[in-house]
Amino acid sequence: MAVQTETSNKFLNYINGEWVASNTNEVLTNTNPANTDDVVGQVQKSSRDDLEQAVAAAKSAKKEWNNLAGAARGQYLFKAADILESRIEDIAECMTREMGKTFPEAKGETARGVAILRYYAGEGMRKVGDVIPSTDSDALMFTTRAPLGVVGVVTPWNFPVAIPIWKTAPALIYGNTVVLKPASEAAVTCAKIFECFAEAGIPAGVVNMVTGPGSVIGQGLAEHPDVNGITFTGSNTVGKQIGQAALARGAKYQLEMGGKNPVIVANDADIDLAVEATISGGLRSTGQKCTATSRVIVQSDVYDKFKEKLVAKVKEISVGNGLNDGIWMGPSASESQLNTVLSYIEKGKEEGTLLCGGDRLSGEEHNKGYFVEPTVFEDIKSEASIAQEEIFGPVLALMKVDTVEAALELANDVEYGLSASIFTTNIQKMLSFINEMDAGLVRINAESAGVELQAPFGGMKQSSSHSREQGEAAKEFFTSIKTVFVK
Ligand code: NAD
Repeated sequence: MAVQTETSNKFLNYINGEWVASNTNEVLTNTNPANTDDVVGQVQKSSRDDLEQAVAAAKSAKKEWNNLAGAARGQYLFKAADILESRIEDIAECMTREMGKTFPEAKGETARGVAILRYYAGEGMRKVGDVIPSTDSDALMFTTRAPLGVVGVVTPWNFPVAIPIWKTAPALIYGNTVVLKPASEAAVTCAKIFECFAEAGIPAGVVNMVTGPGSVIGQGLAEHPDVNGITFTGSNTVGKQIGQAALARGAKYQLEMGGKNPVIVANDADIDLAVEATISGGLRSTGQKCTATSRVIVQSDVYDKFKEKLVAKVKEISVGNGLNDGIWMGPSASESQLNTVLSYIEKGKEEGTLLCGGDRLSGEEHNKGYFVEPTVFEDIKSEASIAQEEIFGPVLALMKVDTVEAALELANDVEYGLSASIFTTNIQKMLSFINEMDAGLVRINAESAGVELQAPFGGMKQSSSHSREQGEAAKEFFTSIKTVFVK
């Protein structure tokens, strides 16, 4: 078993089955966004030389790894799942301290990581191709799948366990080797996943992790001639750069990016359900989900009732250190994230009417962290910046419309198309929404955030490069089809 070699809060790169320090001798230090006196750990501030070693290791491991039976690769993933499961509390606590998500949510996400590993472990024994009838009766024609080779994985901080695993597990099961660069803000949590991979005995070079600046390591992966495919989740700006770099050298790429997700509340909706789902979808994880609800479009007949109930419930939300009992919402994940959210709140005050929240939280419980009040605005026009741009914070914009047709028009009036919900009991409204909503995830009487791990996940418009992650859909990205003709 490969073990970390330095003190328990100093984390190394994982390259070719070994924990190694960067040749820069520099580290990045992560502190707790709920209490900046709490140092969570240090990770390597790596260079392109470190990346070079990781890519070389992944390249030399790929033939042997691909020659294993899928079931044998699956056994490693089952083992990693068991180890991760035995460490749920420890890893979830680290996640809460590192990026602020509440402890129950962090435990849920880590358990999800276990389930994803098991799902893809089983995939090693499922079918990979089809027999296609040939016009030549003496021939056999079928499809099979080949891995891409070395896959670069670049991940964000907001799901520090689930996203690295939902990219790495399918990459591995289909025979690829991986070099992963986690978001620096959540790299300690990611290093702990790699401890599980190491303990599971995954052969040297098959999974590698290099931490460091995105512009160096992330961009380096996108540009590297030996990286055959790159899968990215994060912001649109960075995603487009990665896509362009990959396209320029003919590498396959997958980009999952931002969202500006609407909820429509029709006048026949179950209002209590809609309120609950709007709060959960919009404000859980401090609004830091790509699928978070941010625009709430309500039909005029029920607007006042919905608004009253929503604001009353939002005012009850307990904000604080996510490790403490009774806390529903943690801090923004970083100072820069907090500043972004506060600047959008200031814009919102000019663009509409503030209904509740609207400030940074201060006082003894909050003054060492990046806490912001859950905030609701109304009278927001579709062209307002807080109705158009991804905030990634606990901010909801209410918009009033007369008809569901007008609601759909508003819902589609953004450049993103990740997730969208409608609350209605009317089948015609449901069908119109399914047909007309430009979103990869279309949800009826359910919050905008959340999708089951066996179902395709991804967006339309600027939210995605239009491939899908998760479930069987992952096979499309992580493999190429080979058509075989045997005579
Ligand atoms: P980000 O784009 O800043 O960073 C994502 C990753 O890219 C990090 O690992 C970062 O270090 C790296 N990176 C940064 N600059 C880079 C560069 N120039 N070249 C290559 N890599 C670089 O995003 P973030 O702040 O970590 O995450 C928040 C964003 O992620 C939001 O926009 C959110 O909507 C999006 N997100 C999308 C999904 C989805 O599935 N659609 C899921 C979660 C988060």
